[in-house]
Amino acid sequence: MRVALATEPATPGRENEDFIAATPDAVVLLDGSGTPAGSESGCTHGVAWYARTLGSTLLTSMTQSAGSLSELLAEGIKATTSLHDFTCDVSHPGSPSATVVMLRRSGDFLDWLVLADSVLILDTGQPEPTVITDDREAQVGASYRERMDSLDSTSPEHVAAHREYVETLRDHRNRDGGFWVASVDPLVAEQALTGSVPVHEVRAAALLSDGASRLVDRFHLTTWRDLLGLLGQAGPNELIRQVRTAEQSDPHGQRWPRGKTYDDAAVAYCRP
Ligand SMILES: [Zn+2]
Repeated sequence: MRVALATEPATPGRENEDFIAATPDAVVLLDGSGTPAGSESGCTHGVAWYARTLGSTLLTSMTQSAGSLSELLAEGIKATTSLHDFTCDVSHPGSPSATVVMLRRSGDFLDWLVLADSVLILDTGQPEPTVITDDREAQVGASYRERMDSLDSTSPEHVAAHREYVETLRDHRNRDGGFWVASVDPLVAEQALTGSVPVHEVRAAALLSDGASRLVDRFHLTTWRDLLGLLGQAGPNELIRQVRTAEQSDPHGQRWPRGKTYDDAAVAYCRP
């Protein structure tokens, strides 16, 4: 596959909690979450460490093992947990976590896996591309975010409300009736959405963290089809530039209420 990548932290110079990496046959994207400023996590390494450690572990196993992507994700979560379960309190409810998207070419097929709310788009030549994401966190969170969304997103009150929102959602994380993300328990891999498509049916594929997909699914400034067109013509950096322009046009979160005014963004665009 030809793969183009871009990623950028929400604020220049700050740590990027998104992770993206690729080989010609495998792409992996993670969006780390779990610890807003002032919140406890039980882990001294942090969310960015978790995302890049699990992400690089997954990319290595995707290029070396023929196991299913769910199996590789389970093994990767287990291996990453074992790197800090003797120094950190991995049973803490705020332990670092991450969304995961994996895409791998295996012979004549493209295998994919999506866990949580990062987005995979497959263009199979139909009028509408196939968009795969698991929005259970947003569904659970909808009933808790009213106060946060009513506040100016640059205010200290909003920062506190966002922290409260994240800490409230921890009670629903990796539980039946809640939502599922990679963190400590390898069994969450069974909750991932998975599939396989013949390579010759796929014209293009895109992987997006929610900091990049917000141009469509939060700001409604374009469609999935036009976003794919933009990636094909101008590339992933241009998509992130357009996201930043939209974020800057609404610095207080009045037009588009959101937890983070600016968010880490990661994008991969692949052509088999
Ligand atoms: Zn740790």
